[in-house]
Amino acid sequence: MNGTNKGLEVITTIPRLRERLSPERAAGKRIGFVPTMGYLHEGHLSLARRARQECDVVVMSIFVNPLQFGANEDFDRYPRDLARDRDLAEEAGVDLLFHPGVEEMYPRGTLTTVRVDEKLTGRLCGRSRPGHFDGVATVVSKLFHIVEPHRAYFGQKDAQQLAVIERMVEDLNFPVQIVGCPIVREPDGLAMSSRNVYLSETERRVAPRLYQALCQGEALIRKGEKHPAAVVDRVREIIAQESLFRIDYVELLSYPELEPLESIRGKVILAVAAWLGQTRLIDNVIIDTAQLQDNDDKGSPGREEVDDPCCGK
Ligand code: AMP
Repeated sequence: MNGTNKGLEVITTIPRLRERLSPERAAGKRIGFVPTMGYLHEGHLSLARRARQECDVVVMSIFVNPLQFGANEDFDRYPRDLARDRDLAEEAGVDLLFHPGVEEMYPRGTLTTVRVDEKLTGRLCGRSRPGHFDGVATVVSKLFHIVEPHRAYFGQKDAQQLAVIERMVEDLNFPVQIVGCPIVREPDGLAMSSRNVYLSETERRVAPRLYQALCQGEALIRKGEKHPAAVVDRVREIIAQESLFRIDYVELLSYPELEPLESIRGKVILAVAAWLGQTRLIDNVIIDTAQLQDNDDKGSPGREEVDDPCCGK
């Protein structure tokens, strides 16, 4: 393989995937892995392209994992389109598309799962979606055992998930390097998500306000605001100006530890989740305030002034 794209192969069983990967591994090829739930967009494809650049063999999985959905969540109606995904994945340089059924992944249910402590899962999405991150950690650890990748690529879009996976890999000694990748956004700032297709025209029009609110919060931090509540209140206020939103949470925490802050310092995450009708949207910005200090000392401009199309809107 190694750069020469022989076309993408769709694989649905664990033995076939292992059979396909084992000679590659034996030949010393580096295996990159991009786990997804499909209905691909540029966010997913950015991970695949990065894997293509850094690895010899690129494996993407598409599996809508029932374990990470709550009873009243959207497992059944989650968007699926394998034919479209297949073409997009191939274009992005994916070699093997692993698309197992639920029967293949959980033939006898699960008696053994990975449980992640509430220190990491008791806030943000974990609080609103009990059991979600145990479901994620369980399926990702199964996929890691199946694919045995050298590197695995995750988006910062799901920043709590990235923190959970990084910690799981450290705690359980998985021999894989986790690569976190930046959030890919629509031109108006809305973070790309498979769930954006659920939005009505009106909802889609107001949805970018989430990112605009985050940008305002980020600007406050960059100007030196040290009180978490001042930032959180401002972000809440901006979102609440649009009555279609029902806020789930706005939180400012340390990252990746996800601990509450007495004062804003170090690396922090400003994260939101909000409902628009039946659709739950999440977004975040991660700011390294230590870096800011350095930049300020050197007199360089804050990031929002140089590369953020949405800030200030
Ligand atoms: P999902 O299919 O939603 O489970 O996402 C699969 C992977 O793609 C996860 O690592 C996500 O964080 C990542 N991802 C989803 N949306 C984006 C985005 N807008 N930008 C970057 N990565 C993303």
